[in-house]
Amino acid sequence: MTEIFNINALTRENIKKLEAYSSARNEFKGLVDNVIFLDANENPFENGINRYPDPLQNQVKQILTEIHKISQEQMLLGNGSDEVLDLIFRAFCEPNIDNIITLPPTYGMYQVLAEVNAIEVKEVLLNKNFQPDVDTILSAVNANTKLLFLCSPNNPTGNSFSEEAVLTLLDKFKGLIVIDEAYIDFSKQQSWLKRLEEFPNLIITQTLSKAYGMAGIRLGICYASKEIISILNRIKPPYNVNQLTQQKAISRLSDLKQIRHQIADILVERERLSDALKDISCVKTIYPSDANFILIKVDDATKRYNQLLEQNIVIRNRSKQHLCENCLRLTIGTPIENKKLIEAFKSL
Ligand SMILES: *Cc1c(COP(=O)(O)O)cnc(C)c1O
Repeated sequence: MTEIFNINALTRENIKKLEAYSSARNEFKGLVDNVIFLDANENPFENGINRYPDPLQNQVKQILTEIHKISQEQMLLGNGSDEVLDLIFRAFCEPNIDNIITLPPTYGMYQVLAEVNAIEVKEVLLNKNFQPDVDTILSAVNANTKLLFLCSPNNPTGNSFSEEAVLTLLDKFKGLIVIDEAYIDFSKQQSWLKRLEEFPNLIITQTLSKAYGMAGIRLGICYASKEIISILNRIKPPYNVNQLTQQKAISRLSDLKQIRHQIADILVERERLSDALKDISCVKTIYPSDANFILIKVDDATKRYNQLLEQNIVIRNRSKQHLCENCLRLTIGTPIENKKLIEAFKSL
């Protein structure tokens, strides 16, 4: 970007004026030992969770800093990526005035969050290779277009977006670009995190729900400039990530070896499953995947979906989505689960 990027110009007026709620734990966070905490109306009898959690989740962020070499002022944690995405809407999109751009077929939450926040959605379909149609996207932009969502690797198509397309958009689009990297750990492409410093309009979201195996604890992460993160920190609920979530995240993130093994195993299984599907006659197309799922086109998606359900296998029918006629999305399971899936397909 040649001209100076000004995040203030994109921020809602009410948010600019707002002062963050100062919670009890925030005001005295430096103190740990030998302090009597009588400030937050907690129950004083220790049970491990009687105190409010750290509002800024410093220990979790410390580990993320070590993993990604990114400063804590450039990250915000939320109750799943869904909360993080909602905070981005609330900070930058003025209800009934602003709009966002999504690239269907893609993750459904962008649309839901836009509707909840009364924000218009401009949809620009991916091209036939499921890549962003850069020119059409740029021509859809108007003065009130605040956010552009790039889901890469994309759900449900499974592919990553070309670096060239993303770079052009980062350069030409004057609003904020949110790259949703929920599946980045399964991808051949490297994360845009490495290039965060170059783009003041870039927000990257990741999650512990997929590769890290912690969908149940609800922890989503947003990486961006200090300026963007400080705005989001001012509007987030003070205790948005609970104590148990923080504890679980700390213990599991301290064992990256196991996570790396699991990712490697899932990738092996993805190739195995993808190969095996080639021999199934109702499967017409197997789309290349950079994620932990495979999108396939079959002869009759609803029929095949129901047949698999009868065999107690639940997959996702995506055939109602744009460009996904007769498409099914298959999550990579354990080796035994994938074997059963293949057997079930063979029996159809
Ligand atoms: C699964 C998924 C997420 C994860 O959301 P959480 O709220 O963190 O569980 C985010 N984005 C996409 C595209 C996903 O498919």
